[in-house]
Amino acid sequence: MKDRLEQIKEEVRKQVEAAGTLDKLNEVRVNALGKKGALTEVLKGMKNVAAEERPKIGQMVNDTRTEIEAMLEETKKKMESAIREAKMKEEVIDVTLPARKNQVGHRHPNTIALEEVERIFVGMGYEVVEGPEVENDYYNFEALNIPRNHPTRDEQDTFYISEDIVLRTQTSPVQVREMEKGKLPIRMIAPGRVFRSDEVDATHSPSFHQIEGLVIDKNITFADLKGTLAEFARELFGEETKVKFRPHHFPFTEPSAEVDVTCFKCGGKGCRFCKGSGWIEILGCGMVHPRVLQMSGIDPKEYSGFAFGVGLERIALLKYEIDDMRLLYENDVRFLKQF
Ligand SMILES: [Zn+2]
Repeated sequence: MKDRLEQIKEEVRKQVEAAGTLDKLNEVRVNALGKKGALTEVLKGMKNVAAEERPKIGQMVNDTRTEIEAMLEETKKKMESAIREAKMKEEVIDVTLPARKNQVGHRHPNTIALEEVERIFVGMGYEVVEGPEVENDYYNFEALNIPRNHPTRDEQDTFYISEDIVLRTQTSPVQVREMEKGKLPIRMIAPGRVFRSDEVDATHSPSFHQIEGLVIDKNITFADLKGTLAEFARELFGEETKVKFRPHHFPFTEPSAEVDVTCFKCGGKGCRFCKGSGWIEILGCGMVHPRVLQMSGIDPKEYSGFAFGVGLERIALLKYEIDDMRLLYENDVRFLKQF
């Protein structure tokens, strides 16, 4: 009996050594210790053993079982740790490899210019207000003193959604909506996208951006308008910048003016950039028309105000000396990266 047990142990040892995988090792365990295993067979043969011999044989079988279990367990641990090690080697990170470059996005020149303009006006106590891009005809035209028969309402200039709904052609409707609220005084700028049915070329696009400003309070005069825009021009283009007001006509302001600034390239002497004149046109402005105030429920005898509008693209093109507006919309990363 003892020999048989030694034989079983030896057989198991050989099988364990030959088992290359955890699955094979488990097979060996079942063969040796399972219900139909070699050791169980030995126990079944116990009934043929003399009664006084049984405890001794039983002890021997148990010892063998324990030894085989220990052997299996030890081999299993060795296998598992070998597997772990192999996995670690496979997943090892080489910290000396150069890092993958992180592609960080870039602000669009329009956005940079807008933030600059907002910074200047917020610094002067203005509020930034936004409004809808799809607008009622009333807010886009009527309330701004642009009646039905006005030439700017020609369908060639305006995208009509329906007879009464348009894609806003200016951000002025935001001002009307603000005036209607009746909270005075008002000091606001309204930046945003506007739409005109223009052909695309170096200076035109059917969709572009405006920043309009509005101030309404008691005793606001043209001097306030001049001072404000002169300060704006100095902040945007440099301390030496001068402004020039040329009489103009807009339906929603009276009097109205167009504003030029001294060329920031040549300081006003005249160069290629300003086409020799020394001046660059930047915006339109004027005193809010009494009719516009009245239509929004503001008494023009008590209140007065000024308004101005500047093209955001115009500022971006000037500031970054870009000669073609289309570049701003093509979103070529190689172009945008330069700003
Ligand atoms: Zn110049």
